[in-house]
Amino acid sequence: MTVEPKPTRAAPDVALYERMESQVRSYARAMPRQFVRAEGEWMHDDQGGRYLDFLSGCSSLNYGHNHPILKQALLDYIAADGITHGLDLHTEAKANFLATFEEVILKPRNLDYRVMFTGPTGTNAVEAALKLARKVTGRQNVIAFTNGFHGMTLGSLACTGNAGKRGGAGVPLNHVSHEPYDGYYGPDVDTAALLDQRLSDPSSGLDAPAAILVETVQGEGGLNAASFDWLRRIAEIAKRHGALLIIDDIQAGCGRTGGFFSFENTGIMPDIVTLAKSLSGMGLPFAVTLFRPELDQWEPGEHNGTFRGNNHAFVTATAALRHFWSDDRFAQDVERRGNYLASRLQHMADTHGLSVRGRGMMRGINVGSGEISSRITKAAFDRGLIIETSGPNDEIVKVLAPLTIDDAAFARGLDILEACVRAALPSSASSIAAE
Ligand code: PLP
Repeated sequence: MTVEPKPTRAAPDVALYERMESQVRSYARAMPRQFVRAEGEWMHDDQGGRYLDFLSGCSSLNYGHNHPILKQALLDYIAADGITHGLDLHTEAKANFLATFEEVILKPRNLDYRVMFTGPTGTNAVEAALKLARKVTGRQNVIAFTNGFHGMTLGSLACTGNAGKRGGAGVPLNHVSHEPYDGYYGPDVDTAALLDQRLSDPSSGLDAPAAILVETVQGEGGLNAASFDWLRRIAEIAKRHGALLIIDDIQAGCGRTGGFFSFENTGIMPDIVTLAKSLSGMGLPFAVTLFRPELDQWEPGEHNGTFRGNNHAFVTATAALRHFWSDDRFAQDVERRGNYLASRLQHMADTHGLSVRGRGMMRGINVGSGEISSRITKAAFDRGLIIETSGPNDEIVKVLAPLTIDDAAFARGLDILEACVRAALPSSASSIAAE
């Protein structure tokens, strides 16, 4: 297999999109091509250009595009006239998913969770988690963290830190306190202790929280990775103060940081967990909210939604769980790739005096400014590498390659990134313009 990307130089026809599609579109602006096909880590445009995908649908394609086993399972299911849309009806596809999730994921990890099928996107799962926590505890306030990102609907947006995203709400975003994440004030300030102090002080002004909502690695907010010790203490603080611990594993879960759940090696058992993105394994919309059985205090239909039964997603998710998670070989392979990624990024960082963030296959390099990172991602795209940014000022170039990526293609993509980082740094700004 050749791993040399062959990007097209043809001018894209963007007129239709400019005429018809809302200007709210974002990723497409940086990648003005029309894509027609994808397999594994490769995407192809309609001009014959092909691109290595280091974005993976923002971690919705952890097993790459159109994985053959998942694709075949779906083709077989459709060919047999399987149910497509099922509201929340009992279907064979749903039963297979639930039984497989229990057998392959929950039982081996000693986790006992009820599965709530929410609307199909991540923000739906977060909204359900927030609503349930408030209902169960009778409290309104939720603690979220600086640089957290949890979605774009009002409840999850209230938990999101980014001012640009919050600004779109058009109404006050309240009932959430944003507390400093691990490392927010630098390595010497223990932000878990600060939170504990505020919650213990009846005069701190911090209302007793229904929940503490946290990402183990902040996917959009800059790839800050909380230490396992900090996470354990946050879990303990939540318990002591009567708040439910919600781990938002929408981006960091499904293997992205190693295990199926990003918190597996911490020893904590969150009260509530949200999953979406790569849960279906094929980029099909599918989200769940998991919670301890005693928290299942919903009335039938109290939280509803038309698209809670994407049976195609049940089929591909089941195939993905069986294929990748029946033993720990895949997790070990992700760890190996994650270590390789870490060493390549660290080399770039050391060469240019930069720093590396993240965990597992969810890592990036802080290049100092959004202006520099956009030069890097643009140059990378011109060389056939799709890669995006993260962080409050988009200053982190973020690698979200498929977890299944071919080793040679991974190395080639990182070579491209390295060359673009070298060319984009201020001292060599002229060389990038010349390319
Ligand atoms: N939570 C986290 C941690 C996310 O990274 C995202 C999306 O990037 C969401 C929630 C929202 O998911 P969705 O865009 O599917 O609504």
